Amino acid sequence: TYVVTENCIRCKYTDCVDVCPVDCFYEGPNFLVIHPDECIDCGLCEPECPAEAILSEDDLSDAQQPFVALNAELAEAW
Ligand code: SF4
Repeated sequence: TYVVTENCIRCKYTDCVDVCPVDCFYEGPNFLVIHPDECIDCGLCEPECPAEAILSEDDLSDAQQPFVALNAELAEAW
């Protein structure tokens, strides 16, 4: 699963949404999130993000770990 992290906060780009084949991006309060059960791990969004905010779950730093739960919570709230 891919995860949206802090660089997305207040970002205005939506290039990731345009390339996602399964439409699994959702709007959080001030950044986009990825629904973990819908993401098919294709990796297409990662290079498209101008803010470099999207990472594979496996590549997150310790400080970015809370974004896993945050993406899930905010996406599932829809
Ligand atoms: Fe969508 Fe693929 Fe990115 Fe997952 S990795 S959010 S399926 S574009």
